[in-house]
Amino acid sequence: MDISITKIAQPKEKPEASTLGFGKYFTDHMFIMNYTEGEGWHDARIVPFGPFSIHPACTVLHYGSEIFEGLKAYRKKDGSVQLFRPIENIRRMNTSAERLCLPQIPEDLAMEVLTKFVEFEQDWTPFAEGTSLYIRPFMFGSDETLGVHAVHNATFMIITSPVGSYYKEGINPVKIMIEADDVRAVRGGTGYAKCGGNYAASNRAGQKAELQGYSQVLWLDGVERKYIEEVGAMNVMFKINGEIVTPALTGSILPGITRKSCIEVLKSEGYTVSERLISVNELEEALENGTLEEAWGCGTAAVVSPIGELAYKGKKFVINEGKIGKVTQHLYDTLTGIQWGKIEDKFNWTCPIKKN
Ligand SMILES: *Cc1c(COP(=O)(O)O)cnc(C)c1O
Repeated sequence: MDISITKIAQPKEKPEASTLGFGKYFTDHMFIMNYTEGEGWHDARIVPFGPFSIHPACTVLHYGSEIFEGLKAYRKKDGSVQLFRPIENIRRMNTSAERLCLPQIPEDLAMEVLTKFVEFEQDWTPFAEGTSLYIRPFMFGSDETLGVHAVHNATFMIITSPVGSYYKEGINPVKIMIEADDVRAVRGGTGYAKCGGNYAASNRAGQKAELQGYSQVLWLDGVERKYIEEVGAMNVMFKINGEIVTPALTGSILPGITRKSCIEVLKSEGYTVSERLISVNELEEALENGTLEEAWGCGTAAVVSPIGELAYKGKKFVINEGKIGKVTQHLYDTLTGIQWGKIEDKFNWTCPIKKN
């Protein structure tokens, strides 16, 4: 597909690595293309980054038809830039699109526009240790009518943001509260789709946890309020009595690419990883009798985030003396090693971006 390019008149100054944080700064350009039923995707363009106008009746503003993805471009030692498993993000975006009745983007087309846009903006990939260029593709319904139905028009965009190291002060285990009231998603709902609506519905519990001094919540399933699902916006894994376990993908859980990569790394090294139902009672028991050896969240932003303390119904449990566990540390070193090109990528997960 032809991508028309309008360059920014005056490129912005790049921020200092130490001030980056997450999602505060954006690069000079953004990518947009439009979908019209019968015509397909058209008008692919790279334009200066900035506000744009939409119709006040635009579907996304009223009925929440929106999905997104999150991945990163990493700067290697030799100065080149690479992506990590981008095809997985593209496939997941199409799965999300199907659930929300948004149009599919053929894999080849999605891969082409993604890599071309990152290639175009690659100078914005920061160099400092642990920093990266966060890539946020997203799609929303853009019919200009209040009628309720699957959309006939959609907009797909990519914005990019240089982000700081997630662990500027070293990897500190976090405190997590098990949420017994609100649920994030239910089977049959949109839990497996990466859609904004799931986040809107999660904010209340997250806010409540924060007010009580916890960084995030551990979600339970929406039907029985019994089975562990995710931690905040990350997947969750445990080492219980030598066994590595993670909740099975039952439909209400987001199929994380970091989760998948952790499982594949561990299996390749001879560990057994069980994807199964984990009840909160099993977890409580393991916490009480000390067989819960490690717990960690996993997602693109943090890679892995060790859990040092879990609170449930007023009781507090410390895990691994509040320190990062061996398996957690190993996964962190392996995945970040592959992502920044410091160790051999024997899984063939990385995707180089052409220098421009
Ligand atoms: C994005 C996301 C994850 C992590 O997925 P990755 O592909 O590993 O980044 C986990 N849970 C939720 C709810 C998410 O939105």
